[in-house]
Amino acid sequence: MTGPASAVGRFRAVAFDLFDTLVDFDPARMPEVTIDGRTERTTSRAAYDALYEAGYALPHYPAFHLLWLDTSRLVWEERDRSPDHREVPSSERFRRLMERLVSVPPAEKAEAGELARDTHMEALIESASFDQGRFRMLKRIREAGLKIGVVTNFDHTPAAHRLLERRGIAPYVDAVLVSEEEGYRKPSPRLFLRAAERLGAAPGEVLFVGDTFEADVAGPHGVGMPCAWLNRKGAPVPEGARPPDFEIRRLEETLRLLGLA
Ligand SMILES: [Mg+2]
Repeated sequence: MTGPASAVGRFRAVAFDLFDTLVDFDPARMPEVTIDGRTERTTSRAAYDALYEAGYALPHYPAFHLLWLDTSRLVWEERDRSPDHREVPSSERFRRLMERLVSVPPAEKAEAGELARDTHMEALIESASFDQGRFRMLKRIREAGLKIGVVTNFDHTPAAHRLLERRGIAPYVDAVLVSEEEGYRKPSPRLFLRAAERLGAAPGEVLFVGDTFEADVAGPHGVGMPCAWLNRKGAPVPEGARPPDFEIRRLEETLRLLGLA
């Protein structure tokens, strides 16, 4: 941990990034597939099986998987070119996938796309883990009277809420901001300003904690929100970038930054 001790008592709220910060993706929980002799973890197999069982006409799985990967890549590349960080909803990503699945008749594409998306999201939710230490951290923050927010770049709002509920996190959280619902992704200033507003605090009174430098450090800095970079592997600060206010290796160190440990 780095940073001045004067942080104590300065914060009225904490906002966490969701993926790889508050919850971890556990690859071991994700279905494993072997394609062309290569083994990988992907949710596409579950989506394929659900479509197959529902009776949709499909190509062989490897062809489906390649379309899946390529469509996501194209959508995300387009998204990342957006100068004001607009989010692209998952419905659009799956609509584009279905457009390329020529074996599915046009009249069935909308329903098939929804089934594929919901199955994918379910597999994703099931692969996210949250441990007791983090529970204790959230409880401690709440007991101290601080508000808790979650701000995530995620393209399907209901799945983010379902994940928080299923892991028992939702009761501890005062405000959840999902990029799909908000229309913009971190590091857009809009998300951080909205988070502060919903947490009833000024941006300078919220500590933001997250693992991705551009989204979770440069983002909050853009609106004058202090931040702690969860830097588990000790990566260097990107050249020329303003360093985070705090740097932590473990999420639970957040308590020390708040003067609660
Ligand atoms: Mg993250």
